[in-house]
Amino acid sequence: MLEDRFGRRIDYVRLSVTDRCDLRCSYCIPKGFKDFEEPEHWLTFDEIERVIGAFTRLGTRRVRLTGGEPLLRRDISTLAARLSALPGLDDLSLSTNATQLARHAPALKAAGVSRLNVSLDSLRRDCITEVTGRDSLPQILDGLMAAKQAGLTPIKINMVAMQGVNHDDIEAMVGFCIEHQFILRLIETMPMGDTGRSAQYLDLQPVLARLRDSFGLRPQTATLGGGPASYWSTADGRFTLGVITPISQHFCATCNRVRLSVDGTLYMCLGQEESLALRPLLRAGISDADLEAVIRQAIELKPERHEFLETPGKVVRIMAKTGG
Ligand code: SAM
Repeated sequence: MLEDRFGRRIDYVRLSVTDRCDLRCSYCIPKGFKDFEEPEHWLTFDEIERVIGAFTRLGTRRVRLTGGEPLLRRDISTLAARLSALPGLDDLSLSTNATQLARHAPALKAAGVSRLNVSLDSLRRDCITEVTGRDSLPQILDGLMAAKQAGLTPIKINMVAMQGVNHDDIEAMVGFCIEHQFILRLIETMPMGDTGRSAQYLDLQPVLARLRDSFGLRPQTATLGGGPASYWSTADGRFTLGVITPISQHFCATCNRVRLSVDGTLYMCLGQEESLALRPLLRAGISDADLEAVIRQAIELKPERHEFLETPGKVVRIMAKTGG
């Protein structure tokens, strides 16, 4: 088992397979952004399998494919199948913006992807066009329905809540999630990069209080994916809400994850700089035993917590670079 200096068990890797994306969400990749990683710096599928193999031997049970937009990486289902075959890995999930999901959903399911998170900030077409920089709502909804049909469940909807942008759309999203049996997760914006810093932050504590009252939500104790969300459900279990509050109530004490970026950098925290460059070691022929040893050492670097509130200017990396 991997354990850090603060007694936290690290058993979850978020794996960014690309830093590119077909959308330009206002809080994530800046419009006109060109500073993407060169293809020769991308970890190959063999390299990814080696690193994730080392993590599973060290006790990692869960991996999430993310990005950028992971469905833009060619042959993503082949990679998913290779990872889900690794001994010890029992939860392979994927985060996507769903624009390409309609044509990928059956292959992802067949490759062993068990769970899906889909980003969707509104059901209003003009709002989605405004937030993502493209008229993408019809494609996203097609992708969602295809995923549901392919049996990729549970599906969680990730909605980044923003004051003055989509704060009025939350109740409509609740109705949509009840209708389709999706789990809704509301997320506070994080000051990652200039885009994250200029996002219209909305404190989710009053929103949660409002939704608890109007839908009779009760706290859920069962873990739903082992992540940072606190979960709330209706008494009949028809609707579950997750709330992710990195700013108004941070959850660093229970952090169980590290992030591997497309260029092979292992980041210890979304909101800090501690990292280990694995690509040079892999390309210099590091042995499996030494790979495990350097991962153990890197976990020692994991900081106690982010400092988004104290030093919001600190993280210049945008979310798509680290792997959201
Ligand atoms: N493209 C995939 C997707 O849309 O889910 C995976 C990568 S995306 C970077 C992962 C998540 O990060 C999305 O739900 C996105 O909304 C969220 N995100 C990006 N920048 C953020 C920020 N500054 N604050 C909070 N969430 C952010």
